Amino acid sequence: MSLLAAATVCCVLPAALILGLWLFYDRRDHARFERERRKTTFYCVRCGKIYARRGLRDEFPCPACGHKNQRLRF
Ligand SMILES: [Zn+2]
Repeated sequence: MSLLAAATVCCVLPAALILGLWLFYDRRDHARFERERRKTTFYCVRCGKIYARRGLRDEFPCPACGHKNQRLRF
């Protein structure tokens, strides 16, 4: 094996591995952050309270009266 080929194997393979792992964890963390950041807002039709919950939900009971409300759509 020539010196150039050995150098290529020793430098490019670890670099590609690290780049791959970096991209993988970066995408995973970004997806988790987006999920945490997103809040769903609800308006209670029974008592008029506005409340929010983390994550994407279509229906959540009101913390004040327990009435199940659909999420607000803008
Ligand atoms: Zn309510």
